[in-house]
Amino acid sequence: MTSKLIILQDKIRMAEKAAGRTPRSVALIAVSKVQPCSAIRPVLQAGHRLFGENRLQETAEKWPSLREEFPDIILHLIGPLQTKKTRQAVRLFDVIETLDREKLARQLARIFAEEGLRRDCYIQINVGREPQKAGILPEEAEAFIALCRDELKLPIVGLMCIPPAAEDPAPYFSLLKDMAYKAGLEKLSMGMSGDFEKAIAEGATSVRVGTALFGERVKTG
Ligand SMILES: *Cc1c(COP(=O)(O)O)cnc(C)c1O
Repeated sequence: MTSKLIILQDKIRMAEKAAGRTPRSVALIAVSKVQPCSAIRPVLQAGHRLFGENRLQETAEKWPSLREEFPDIILHLIGPLQTKKTRQAVRLFDVIETLDREKLARQLARIFAEEGLRRDCYIQINVGREPQKAGILPEEAEAFIALCRDELKLPIVGLMCIPPAAEDPAPYFSLLKDMAYKAGLEKLSMGMSGDFEKAIAEGATSVRVGTALFGERVKTG
């Protein structure tokens, strides 16, 4: 397990170098969905602190106890968020990567005010315009970013995407980078086990990697 972490970190450093990126400018989000605490703990013991989960229930079962052992964990929500679960998400996660609609943006603003706290947010962009996928359509992004930042005063730090599975992801990563640049946003969450090196070449500031670190996930229906 620890050796997989080292190999993955080496690959990220090599991809940074190949792309002429600043050393250590790309963060690894270890995607631990479906993995039990017994698989996550060795990664924590190796010193890694940045993780991604996609389900609230599972996160509530696993992470409070891990946080007691390792208080400096940083947890990103990378899965869909139901509006009615916003308060729970804000309590469980440090960063919300899947802000994908106006109703959720308004609810986040309200919960931040009520709870007296803020969480950095990424706006999820549906770069491939896929009907089954969440995210703001590229042509609607500018107006949505303006709503979130200027009207609702949400701490928007960057953009996130999941490109279409069966295509070369590079043009989609490039599109996300252009959109972030135009909006003056610095962070780009893009790239998974199969394509994180391409994402780094296109400007990713964080990659979300599960399988290459923990092995194949056992499907749970
Ligand atoms: C599961 C997941 C990942 C990790 O995918 P792997 O192919 O296992 O690296 C990344 N991003 C999101 C949004 C995911 O749901």
